[in-house]
Amino acid sequence: MHSKDQTIFALSSGRPPSAIAIVRVSGSQAAQTLRRLAGKIPQPRRATRVLLRDDEREPIDDAVVLWFSGPASATGEDVAEFHVHGGRAVLASLFAALSAIEDVRAAEPGEFTRRAFENGKLDLTEAEGLDDLVHADTDRQRRKALRQLKGLLGDRARSWRAQIIEASALFEAGFDFADEGDVPAELLAPALAGIRRLLSEIEHVLAAEQRSERLREGLVVAIAGPPNVGKSTLMNQLARREVAIVSPHAGTTRDIIEVSLDLDGYPVTVIDTAGIRQTDDPVEQEGVRRARARAAESDLVLWISDAAGQAISNEGDAPVWLVRNKIDLADPNGPGANSEQSAAGEFRISAARGDGITDLITAMVAFARDYFGGDEGGLISRQRQRELLGETMAALRRCVEIAGTSEELAAEDLRRASFSLGRLIGRVDVEDILDVIFRDFCIGK
Ligand code: GDP
Repeated sequence: MHSKDQTIFALSSGRPPSAIAIVRVSGSQAAQTLRRLAGKIPQPRRATRVLLRDDEREPIDDAVVLWFSGPASATGEDVAEFHVHGGRAVLASLFAALSAIEDVRAAEPGEFTRRAFENGKLDLTEAEGLDDLVHADTDRQRRKALRQLKGLLGDRARSWRAQIIEASALFEAGFDFADEGDVPAELLAPALAGIRRLLSEIEHVLAAEQRSERLREGLVVAIAGPPNVGKSTLMNQLARREVAIVSPHAGTTRDIIEVSLDLDGYPVTVIDTAGIRQTDDPVEQEGVRRARARAAESDLVLWISDAAGQAISNEGDAPVWLVRNKIDLADPNGPGANSEQSAAGEFRISAARGDGITDLITAMVAFARDYFGGDEGGLISRQRQRELLGETMAALRRCVEIAGTSEELAAEDLRRASFSLGRLIGRVDVEDILDVIFRDFCIGK
């Protein structure tokens, strides 16, 4: 008997000992395992308490069993589940009893999921999502894996592929007309427009993915501003530990100091830039150069100024928030010193005393949520998926470029794009193209 036709079993729950262990059995002999061990096949999907016995009628365990008749099961085959007490001896005894049944063997890694895939219960991206979900450590990983398991990427890929196949059908039909010296160019225009739309959609998903990858690295926030305005002091406030040098002398923060913060679940790297100013000291010059570069590539800049209110100088594209520090020094009778309202996009803090820090952090959290938010991100979890989407885009781009010159080559590129997407979801079937042609067109030949 071929190994694929054999019935497989495995411990599906965690490592023993545990309170309860779940052993799954999948394959044509699943019903037989229940008959032999439980003495009956319970009603489908009904938890049923039984005393499991081995072939010598010796009790194995007081258990709960479940029966899922294929194809309405996780693998698409007949499935039996044994919920037993999770002791090693109980499991050893159950495994021995299962192995004693003909054509029943221990499963290989991933074999249940593989059977589910082969039986069309899930596509490849969903299978990958399932694996990611089992291995998810953080909440964010869990949500992403769940989206994939729910088929979000697979659904998109299927819809893109259907559109490509539809367009292919139009191109292929074009050849046939061409044989009769009558190429309906207007037939291809909507197909090409559709492909361009697809291209931008896939591009969008890949771009959103890059943002979501940035999320893994964390948001980069640069604390910048002239020397001595209190950047290091703010850094310490944020980190709540002494990571930066706080000194009353200008230019003492010679190097960039980074600190990783967890702001309400968002990983944020805060960079304390060296005092950005003209200097003759070569060591300090290097610090200034690096500070400028780092601040320029950050996602957000906190431009710190003190009461003197120096002008902002920012070289990157990142938004800049003006943070006025040392409000504790302000003349209480001076203009605006006590105003509770700060200008829009401006924060008033005392890094030394801690005033206004909570508001600043709240705003940073909102910024991170905004920056990384949106449902579009996190559809792609693997290099394989990214590469296949990249291949799909390349083929579609070639198709658009060449369509005016050669319909045949353009159609070939469409086939490649559809093939890449087919591989993404694990369903490559060239018959699809012909099916669509015959269904939607009357070629008449
Ligand atoms: P940096 O060069 O911008 O990093 O500035 P520092 O953090 O080293 O601070 C320069 C000086 O300003 C130090 O003497 C700090 O104690 C002082 N300082 C920082 N923040 C405040 C503040 O909110 N109020 C007051 N009064 N002094 C501050």
